[in-house]
Amino acid sequence: MVTVYIGLGSNMGNRRANLQAAVNMLRELPDLQITAIAPLYETEPWGLKEQEPFLNTVIQVETAYSPRELLSFLQEIENKLGRVRKEKWGPRTVDLDILLYGHEVVDAPDLQIPHPYLLQRAFVLVPLLDLDDDLTMPDGRFLRDFLPAVADQKVNRISEYLV
Ligand code: AMP
Repeated sequence: MVTVYIGLGSNMGNRRANLQAAVNMLRELPDLQITAIAPLYETEPWGLKEQEPFLNTVIQVETAYSPRELLSFLQEIENKLGRVRKEKWGPRTVDLDILLYGHEVVDAPDLQIPHPYLLQRAFVLVPLLDLDDDLTMPDGRFLRDFLPAVADQKVNRISEYLV
């Protein structure tokens, strides 16, 4: 079993319900257990600014699936939840990203782990550090050391939670 961190985001419709539905679908996978869920954060859209704010969080899972198996399950869930993929960084029902997969590094055209923007996005870094303040990149760099660099990005913890 490997400890994996998955980023979740939604900025369409009932955002919390969308994220909860994704979590519920992940729970149905036989070789994956959700071990922790970070608080929910409301964040300014990245890239295209003229869209609704996102709700974001990160979950910690233990899984026996390979990175690629996991990616295809995540894409299946995104598709089932009706993600509309019109434009890069545009509105989406649910976006699911593999952020960290143990200490593995994957560098393929369709899959990069750690997620390439991990260290640059407060909406990923903040909930990751909520789950484990001692998290490191595969090369040993502490994630917490990258927080000051994203301090100008607005992330607001909200009082609702996923279960
Ligand atoms: P996006 O529209 O930005 O969510 O990008 C989706 C695409 O990113 C998918 O087609 C994946 O093949 C690719 N991708 C690359 N690395 C990852 C990752 N670590 N987790 C999820 N998707 C990834």
